[in-house]
Amino acid sequence: MNRALILMYHIVAEPLSAREQRFCCPPAEFACQMAWLARGEYTPVSMDNLLDCLDGRAAWPKNPVHVTFDDGFVDILRNAVPSLVRHGIPATAFVLSGRLGQTNDWMHTRGFPQRNLVSGPELRELAAGGVTIGSHTQTHARLTEIAPGAAADEITVSKAELEDVTGRNVKHFAYPHGLHTPAVRALVERAGYQAACSTLSGFNRPEQDRFLLRRLDIFGTDKLWQFRQKLRFGTNEATRLKPLTYYAGRIASRASLR
Ligand SMILES: [Zn+2]
Repeated sequence: MNRALILMYHIVAEPLSAREQRFCCPPAEFACQMAWLARGEYTPVSMDNLLDCLDGRAAWPKNPVHVTFDDGFVDILRNAVPSLVRHGIPATAFVLSGRLGQTNDWMHTRGFPQRNLVSGPELRELAAGGVTIGSHTQTHARLTEIAPGAAADEITVSKAELEDVTGRNVKHFAYPHGLHTPAVRALVERAGYQAACSTLSGFNRPEQDRFLLRRLDIFGTDKLWQFRQKLRFGTNEATRLKPLTYYAGRIASRASLR
């Protein structure tokens, strides 16, 4: 079946508060999830590979999946990269060009713990470790709520700044807070990116808009069975009843066809 999954993580570390748990995957859980991904049921691919499959330039491997991290938390360098390297899993980090070496100010003003974001040298370390760098704007801007000129700057200047720091082409984008409109989407395409990730859940099939790619939100509270179920059904919701309701729905729809 020609469909690809993109997984979305934020922090990979022990959570510092109950509120943070959802965005904070404990390193042992992350290691366990990556080990499971490498077992053969899925094929970890790079974003470029995934786009080649969607565009018909490459043959589809078995259940392609791409791993992404939003915001550029420094913890992914220590807590995620070793597992990615061990299992040969390609990943993309969407970072904020205007917050390198700073903290998650857009979160801790809303009651989340303060966390460090990668600095310029750490960003280069991340890229050298095999992680593709994408843009998540300069300042985690709410692109649908600021003036179009300001949104255009966030999108285009972040690309140029990240290319300056890494010396690599920055081809992919992720919308902060998942906020987008047709106008914002057009700005991203016009800025020269090749694809953009949303926070809409589901599988990516060839007809999926390259600038509104779907991602599964992997919660820090997900256990391995929930992780596996999310991937299997392409949904953010994992419940014990999911397989039952899914198959009941399929049987019902087949029965109605008869
Ligand atoms: Zn973000």
